[in-house]
Parts: sequence; structure tokens; C-alpha cells
Amino acid sequence: MRETVKSEQAFKESNSYFPGGVNSPVRAFGSVGGTPLFIDKAKGSHIYDVDGNEYVDYVLSWGPMILGHAEEQVLEAVIETAKKGTSFGAPSPLETELATWVKKRVPSIETMRMVNSGTEATMSAIRLARGYTNREKFIKFNGCYHGHSDSFLVNAGSGVATFELNDSPGVPKDLIKATLSLDYNDLEAVEEAFKRYPDEIAAVIIEPIAGNMGLIPAKPEFLKGIRELTKQYGALLILDEVMTGFRCDYDSAQGLYGIDPDLTTLGKVVGGGLPAAVFGGKKKYMDGIAPVGSVYQAGTLSGNPLAMAAGIATLKQLTREDYDKMNQKALRLTDGIEKAAKEYNVPIQTTCRGTMWGFFFNEHPVIDFKTSKESAQTYFGHFHKELLNQGVYLSPSQFETNFMSTAHTDEDIDKTINGFKETFRVLE
Ligand code: PLP
Repeated sequence: MRETVKSEQAFKESNSYFPGGVNSPVRAFGSVGGTPLFIDKAKGSHIYDVDGNEYVDYVLSWGPMILGHAEEQVLEAVIETAKKGTSFGAPSPLETELATWVKKRVPSIETMRMVNSGTEATMSAIRLARGYTNREKFIKFNGCYHGHSDSFLVNAGSGVATFELNDSPGVPKDLIKATLSLDYNDLEAVEEAFKRYPDEIAAVIIEPIAGNMGLIPAKPEFLKGIRELTKQYGALLILDEVMTGFRCDYDSAQGLYGIDPDLTTLGKVVGGGLPAAVFGGKKKYMDGIAPVGSVYQAGTLSGNPLAMAAGIATLKQLTREDYDKMNQKALRLTDGIEKAAKEYNVPIQTTCRGTMWGFFFNEHPVIDFKTSKESAQTYFGHFHKELLNQGVYLSPSQFETNFMSTAHTDEDIDKTINGFKETFRVLE
């Protein structure tokens, strides 16, 4: 059995300082129970808690660490950059350098703005769409998570779903009226909304592969249909690729699906493990942002040199071959998990999209938030806890996704499959 005394002590102390002892709700292990791991260090595909336990890590800081933790070139870039100063509040060439990588990999982005978090990126993209179209309503989808700004906290996924906070107090009711939250993969619902409000919808924002209600890919015809409807009704299509950008595929989800969005939001991988995010797209829309246009958006630390350096050092290393290899590993893993579940008669649905992978304890296919919520949450909680004893660290909620990095080895995959098997056996 793992020793957890130091994590427990650290959690007790942190509870005196932070609500729930954490600085982001899902870190609190709310739905799986027990003490969250307090992390001492991480290297490659492994993470180490303060009690000295070692885990194969598939959370990867919720996605960013695609090269694994403390990767040498990223570290060197950050250290060398820091020696020249950590923030200037003025433009630096590093911002343009990272932008060239973004444009190369996501060609629908003609111009962009660097921000510090995915929340800022999506919040600004919606404001821009509203400002450009002079319309106030927008469509999002149940179970998708676009950060924690007011307009998005309607039937949202991730921690909002984990803690069942679908209508967060503090969000003005009048603002919420402008958010139309529809079922994922239901094109008819989108069509109906546009018919009902033909001149009022500024944008549709969507995770092209949803990762915040567990992993649920959009059906290709659903995304294609949304692209057509947004064009037809003069609304902007915003692909929220904060999670999928540079992650699910070399060409991100928009390349994978062949969708040309008006605006895109990026985060996580683009900052290489430091706080950076992007919103960008067609120049004609982006020119609506101040100081060219009048839609306001700003940030003291935006384009921070350390984050730019980490992002550049990450993106410049990744090749198409790396994505293929990560995908092969993720497929081998989900295949092994499925076989292990079958051996112990555990109903499971596994999904793998590029370097993102997930599973639901569910007999039926999971295609939207409703079916995701029907999965066996309590079993997942027991499962997660036991899997930690097997040295495997997964996202502590069924409403999340797991990730693969270039650093994961064949031994890691074997260890994980065996860990799943052993966990199914223990819980039988
Ligand atoms: N959009 C998506 C798709 C996300 O997955 C997230 C975070 O997980 C966000 C936006 C918000 O990003 P951040 O947590 O950096 O504010």
C-alpha cells in the first residue's frame, strides 16, 4: 500500500489557505475521494509525490506536457530566456517567433493575440464575435468546457460537471440568457436554434473533440453542418482547440476534420507547460481587436518571454512522426485496457483520438453529456483510487481526458495495462 502521510499533511495545511485546499477545483479529487497527491517533482512520463511514490502520469498537467515533464530543451530555453529578464510589458521577438509556429501548424490563423490562459482566449474570442456581428447570443454545447468566464458556465463540463455546478451562482441571469447550450453531436438542435434566432447568434463555439465530459469526438458531419450553418446565418465559427490544439494531431482537430474556422482558441501545449494561450483567426475578424478595432482585450503578462520560449522549444521539436508514435502508444494502451476490462466483465467504452485517450464505465456508446453522465461514477472513484496504488495517475474525474506524451515508453504502457488488470481484479 502507498504511504500518503506527507500528502495528507500538506493537504491539511493547504486547506487553511485555499478553498478546498487547492487552486483549481478538479485538483481536489472531489469525485474520486481521498487526498489529492501533492507533487514534489516530475520527469518524462513520471510524476513523484511528496511521499516519494512514483506514478506513470497521463494527466500531464491537464494536457500541456506533450514532450513529458522537465524536457531538456524546454528547460534550457526557459533558463536561458530567464537570464535576460522574465517580463518586459513590451513586445519581444519571441512572441513573433511563437506566432510563426502557430501559423505554420494552424494555417486558418492569419493573425492572433497571445494571452495567458484558455479562459482568456475563449472569453476574448466570444467578445470579438459579438463585437464583429453586433449580436449577443451564441451557441455552445452541453458538457463542453471553455474556461470559467461568465458566459460559458451553462451546462459546462470538466470541474463544473464534476462538482455539479452547472449554473454557477454569481453569473448574471441576464447574461446567461444569451448562452444557448445544446446537445453535442445534435445538428438538428443547432439548425433549430438558427431558425429561431436567425439574426441574433454571434457565434458557435465548440470543442471539435470534446475532452471535458470524458473524451467524445464530434461526428464529422456534425462539425461540417455547423460550418455550413454559421456561414448561412452570418455567425462566426470558433473552434476551441485549447485542449486539442497541437495535441490530437499534428494538424490539430481542424486539420484532422478538414474544417476552416473563423476563429480558433489555443492553450495548454502552445505554452509548453508555462502560462500561454492564443486566440486568432481570419484577419478581417482579428482586426476588430484594439488597437486596430474597438473590441478591447489586454494583458500585463501576455506574451510572457518565458512562456513564449517554452512554447517555441516545444513546438519546434514535434514532428508528424512523433504524433504517429504517440497515437500508436495510445491505441495499444486503450486496446489493452479494453481486453483487461473484458477479462473481468467490466463494461467499458474506450476512445482514442491521436494523443488523447479516455474511457467510460458504460455498456453503451457515449456520444454526449447525457450519456457521459450515465457512466458508473462511483465505480470510477474506487477504480481511480486503486489505480494510484498500482502506480498510475489518471485524471481524477470521468469528465476529463487522459493524454500521451513522447516520453511514455513501452514499459509505461505495459505497466499501465497491468495496473488496470490488477485494479479490475481487486474491485471484482
Ligand atoms: N477550453 C478548453 C477546451 C479547455 O479544455 C480548457 C481547460 O481545460 C479551457 C478552455 C480553459 O483553459 P484554462 O484552464 O487555461 O483557462
